[in-house]
Amino acid sequence: MPILELRNVSKSYGEPGSANAVEILRDANLVIEAGESVAITGPSGCGKSTVLNLLGTLDEPDRGEIVFDGEVIKGGSIVQLSKLRSEKIGFIFQLHHLLPQCTVMENVLLPAQALAEKPDFAVVEKRAKELLSLVGLDQRLKWFPGQLSGGERQRVAVVRALINQPKVILADEPTGALDETNANTLTDLMINMSEKFGISLVLVSHNPDQAQRMKRVLRLHEGKFESVK
Ligand code: ADP
Ligand code: ADP
Repeated sequence: MPILELRNVSKSYGEPGSANAVEILRDANLVIEAGESVAITGPSGCGKSTVLNLLGTLDEPDRGEIVFDGEVIKGGSIVQLSKLRSEKIGFIFQLHHLLPQCTVMENVLLPAQALAEKPDFAVVEKRAKELLSLVGLDQRLKWFPGQLSGGERQRVAVVRALINQPKVILADEPTGALDETNANTLTDLMINMSEKFGISLVLVSHNPDQAQRMKRVLRLHEGKFESVK
């Protein structure tokens, strides 16, 4: 069952034909199955972040459709889109984007506070503790981001992305600021979480070593997705 699809999507920046025109996607198709892990790779500037923003409904295609869980996203209101994002999508970025004045636990709980329908916070806090323990951070609940290592911060960002039990995790160069050992650990951790909970993972990386750790690897090339693994 597909969870997320791009159907005949085209996306460019700038006036077509002008000097600053950039074509990112041309009639591109992409199907992400529920629960699968996919890497999208390609050199810097080829349009990986743009693709992730389209998948995350943060940006709109020029032509074509984005389909999330069988529903065409086009034309959704801002309220509908933000509801979809907070309930069904977890985002992870290159830089953790943790709030420095909030503890690890508080940072992890933030997306739950953004939900339109207030969850049972006792349940969410229990989940937060269990997830932090799964990523080896059970001793860090009351620490602040500034007291953590780079790898630990990204693990907090992974838990924050999982807290609302999303259907998809979208990760944009999540290991970009880490050394190789920490990068490998983090990528494997995201893959494990995706498998454990049946959440799809779409990871965008210019680093072929990180991309190769995933079962399925696509390359963005001349406006289309090519299968490389
Ligand atoms: P990647 O993530 O692969 O590095 P991006 O998606 O960030 O690539 O960018 C792809 C290309 O589109 C780059 O040439 C970039 O300069 C251009 N670009 C990205 N965002 C915009 C924008 N909002 N307006 C104009 N050009 C943009
Ligand atoms: P259990 O200890 O009951 O076997 P799991 O190991 O399956 O639980 O899950 C560990 C924690 O992850 C639990 O707190 C659970 O609430 C949480 N969890 C379960 N499913 C998901 C999901 N899809 N996304 C994020 N967290 C989840």
